[in-house]
Amino acid sequence: MNPKRPIDDATDALIKVTLPGHAAAGIPGVVHSMGPALAQLGPRRTLALFTSMNQKEGFDCMSCAWPDPESRKTLEFCENGAKAVIWEATPITVPSSFWAEHPVDELATKSEYWLGQQGRLIEPVYKAAGDDHYRPVSWDEAFALAGAALRGLDSPHQAAFYTSGRASNEAAFAYQLFVRAFGTNNLPDCSNMCHESTGTALSEVIGIGKSTVSYDDFERADLIIVMGQNPGTNHPRMLTALEDAKRAGATIVSVNPLPEAGLQRYKNPQTVRGMIGKGTTLADQFLQIRLGGDMALLQALSKRVLEAEAARPGTVLDQAFLAEHCVGLDELAAHLAQLDEAEVLAATGLTGAEIDELADRYIRAERVIITWAMGVTQHKKAVAGIKEIVNLLLLRGNIGKPGAGASPIRGHSNVQGDRTMGIWERMPDSFLDALAREFPFEPPREHGVDAVQGIQAMQRGDIKVWVSLGGNFVGAISDTAAAESAMRGTDLTVQISTKLNRSHAVTGKAALILPTLGRTEIDRQASGVQFVTVEDSVCAVHASRGRVEPVAPNLLSEVAIVSRLARATLGETSGIDWEGFESDYDVIRDHIAAVVPGCADYNEKVRRSEGFVLPNGPRDSRTFPTAVGKAILTVNELERVECPPGRLLLQTLRSHDQFNTTIYSRNDRYRGIKKGRDVVFVNPDDLDELGLDDGQHVDVFSEWPGQPDRELRGMRIVAYPTARGCAAAYFPEANVLIPLASTAEGSNTPVSKAVVVRLEPARTVG
Ligand code: SF4
Repeated sequence: MNPKRPIDDATDALIKVTLPGHAAAGIPGVVHSMGPALAQLGPRRTLALFTSMNQKEGFDCMSCAWPDPESRKTLEFCENGAKAVIWEATPITVPSSFWAEHPVDELATKSEYWLGQQGRLIEPVYKAAGDDHYRPVSWDEAFALAGAALRGLDSPHQAAFYTSGRASNEAAFAYQLFVRAFGTNNLPDCSNMCHESTGTALSEVIGIGKSTVSYDDFERADLIIVMGQNPGTNHPRMLTALEDAKRAGATIVSVNPLPEAGLQRYKNPQTVRGMIGKGTTLADQFLQIRLGGDMALLQALSKRVLEAEAARPGTVLDQAFLAEHCVGLDELAAHLAQLDEAEVLAATGLTGAEIDELADRYIRAERVIITWAMGVTQHKKAVAGIKEIVNLLLLRGNIGKPGAGASPIRGHSNVQGDRTMGIWERMPDSFLDALAREFPFEPPREHGVDAVQGIQAMQRGDIKVWVSLGGNFVGAISDTAAAESAMRGTDLTVQISTKLNRSHAVTGKAALILPTLGRTEIDRQASGVQFVTVEDSVCAVHASRGRVEPVAPNLLSEVAIVSRLARATLGETSGIDWEGFESDYDVIRDHIAAVVPGCADYNEKVRRSEGFVLPNGPRDSRTFPTAVGKAILTVNELERVECPPGRLLLQTLRSHDQFNTTIYSRNDRYRGIKKGRDVVFVNPDDLDELGLDDGQHVDVFSEWPGQPDRELRGMRIVAYPTARGCAAAYFPEANVLIPLASTAEGSNTPVSKAVVVRLEPARTVG
């Protein structure tokens, strides 16, 4: 077994397109996990890793944030979790010679796929200003360079500190502490680009920006509505929870512009019927909604619920719950009374009968869960749309009872934990007060920049140093061209990473790469072997323990890197025990216990085999810590997404062999794509209307009022059963089509799910 780094970058020259699939997982799922694992990791490393993944004494999957069931199976992971482990635990490493062989300009011509395949980063490297090559440096030199650059700034606000959702709670807490001790709240994170709309909406109307359900609620639900989410690819073990719910009698409804295979049929590879049988049909109803139509659908459902109550008073609404725990019912009812059904049908692309059917299912169900992801959060009106989800749930008391609730599903393993630990550019004063009580400094109070504002601040020259704790910011953010030019305008970029990505090729004038340990690797510090903690989508916090030896001896953990960066920047007189943090993570956890709400006795609680679940007022006791102390039913003005004739609405999406900007392969098995990514999915009837053909190459232009068109060239059309008038293309490639200023109201999350585009025959073929 001697896996090699690919030399040539892949293209779409060999692309193959077949019909999309109608079932997820099954034998192909096993083959696509175990095959590459044995080829890349070998039998021993594969066995060690796959038998400890998501186990109580094992490591937490570094991919999505789907929770673990109380009773774990021997193999408690999915195909995409396996890919994430193979990707991180590969023995392929980036040799020192690589940096001399590949100038940064050349790396910038490479795809994410090629960069990711180069192997694990194993030594700190530095690219000096004016130089086009990275060169290996010692850790001490690396920290000295970073520290000097940060201390050399005129103001701490000239630096920003980004966090990706992979960072552990301990690293995140130490990082926000370092940044605030440095003097700024410039703490943008990946949540700004994904579930910020969720946090903004839920915090306002129920008082907490998180899911109100527990894992077991899924099996107790009568109805589960899955909106704007593709669990088959992005949260695959959720399919097991949906299958269990179905077997317990639940009904499942999928609301999505695309007929995703994972919501049609699930072939659970841990069951006979999943391996050799037909598996389990999941969705009982599929509403193929038009992009941006969620809010209209939700208002129409709530209106139908109110009408049903009017027809059968006292039998539909949960009057007792509404009276005791909610405000705003009358205003909502008055608003919905004016709702124009024709406007609803135009905005949703659905029929009245389809909406009636779902409304009837909703009214007949006692316990309802609504789940959602990017398909709901990355719209202009996303915050209002999520408030409409809550409106619908509150009408029948579907929050704070078993089998019911609002459940945003997080896409990155610890993105929620990072936020809980203080990674947010606008943490409440209560958190900053607690920090001031615990540490010898006064935290800054001025809100910092979020992801989009970070780029805008770079464009103005206000931010000169950009530090990233994990992630691939320039790959993930919208308006690629603007983001990359802004990043190149900074004086220094610092990337704390496990593997190469575009953020290592698109850098500041000077750049540092600091290689860190992976989640699978044993983390030894002065006081012994350490564990870290993470929080999943349902607020459960648990330990994660590395299982295999680090791929190289010279790696530092995220906590060690943050601690040394803090010492190199703040000096030895900050009054904060950074060395203690590094040598024993219990020291950090004791501070977490003192500062972070719900984390008292943290060290004791995370040592329980199950960890613990953070308090959640709406879930635990129907307590709603909002501005009025009750859950708020809100009135939201409906705004249909307009699309001029001859144009389409485009959404960006992930392929099945992708996690965020990490490309595991150029295949997308569930959508019938092999060896290709430069594709645009379009409904055959729209192709006829536009006079375009399946397989034809087109240039895609996005149109924005008062702005020049943005273009994505040489895309191959794939005739695909999208909703009429709607198209789709992969992110991050399609991010170039989305202007930075196009963000969701209230959350500033980039709007990448309803982009007006025009397709023209390609002037050049990709
Ligand atoms: S469902 Fe998510 S967390 Fe679980 S193994 Fe799969 S990718 Fe990892």
